[in-house]
Amino acid sequence: MKKRNKLLLVAMLFCISMPVLAQKIEYGKRFRALIIGLDGTKGVQFNESVFLNKQAPNIKIIMDQGQYTTCASIHDVHCAKTHLGHRLGPDYFWVTSPGWATVLSGVNTDKHLVKENDFERQRIFTKTSQQFPTFLFQLKQHGFITAAGGVGNFLSSIDDGQVTPGILDYECGEDIIHQQSSVAADANTSCNADYRQSFNGDDEDRDKQLTTWLSNLINMDGEHSPDVIMGVYDTIDEAGHRHTFSSNPDYLKAIANVDSSIAELVAALKHRVEKSNEVWLVIITADHGGHGRDHSDALLEDEVVPFVISTFGQHISLLRRGSLEEGHATQMDVKPSLMHWFNIEPGASDGMVRSQYQWLSG
Ligand SMILES: [Zn+2]
Repeated sequence: MKKRNKLLLVAMLFCISMPVLAQKIEYGKRFRALIIGLDGTKGVQFNESVFLNKQAPNIKIIMDQGQYTTCASIHDVHCAKTHLGHRLGPDYFWVTSPGWATVLSGVNTDKHLVKENDFERQRIFTKTSQQFPTFLFQLKQHGFITAAGGVGNFLSSIDDGQVTPGILDYECGEDIIHQQSSVAADANTSCNADYRQSFNGDDEDRDKQLTTWLSNLINMDGEHSPDVIMGVYDTIDEAGHRHTFSSNPDYLKAIANVDSSIAELVAALKHRVEKSNEVWLVIITADHGGHGRDHSDALLEDEVVPFVISTFGQHISLLRRGSLEEGHATQMDVKPSLMHWFNIEPGASDGMVRSQYQWLSG
């Protein structure tokens, strides 16, 4: 048999025996991804924590291996931005569900039309996500294993007996009678998440529980381990509402606390790339910033968020590294960057691909 025919036969056999599950593998390395959402983390204070106060050494480790935005003040053109929100009209707000809807779908609020956190204004996503699906749904459709964990407004959760709706679940459908998504708040799987875990938004240990859940998924072996994992941390937003979204010790301390949780994730990632044949894309961003004790309609204050994109793995690096000099990074860059990482057509997007990578020899 000619060598070319042999290769063809091998390729055909591979296709026939290929399981329904998909994995992206290059040079023997399996591609995986982790998205760390930081609810209510204002770009300016994130920048201050990492670079000035040096209270976020684990986030810094992630930054040093990739690309990131800096944000010296709300007027700094380098700050990463949210969706256009309140700039689009008086009924659009910089709150959690519109923020994560934007991150997940990669399109601006005038497309996904999620304007607020309540049932009436989250349920629109059941319709609009059909045209602008989340990256979790789209990757799952392609056979990748997906995972999502977090609290209310991101995932429907039970907060001291009450259900708080979550935007990701509305992609799966709505329950008009109970005014909820069709996904039960305590469900462990859904249309877009093979692994799904919501946490009680009133439990002060929710971020620690999330860290344990994420670490276990990162460390999971076998073909059922998730290819893409998204977790949303909640306590920084709470500190903002209590103490103001500003450079006060309590808000900065909340960022430092989440950074200590991220230490566990960084350790897990380092372990995976040493012991397993894996390469990871890691992205950090937020849903919105804040002003005073709130966030909703304050131009710039509510719009500045962090954006970090990085790789973990041997012999791989992003093409562009260091601080993002040209500006223009937005939370809408998450989806197209993930789609590029997994080699899937991104579909409609208002963001940019920032995950172009190269293999390094040696
Ligand atoms: Zn909030």
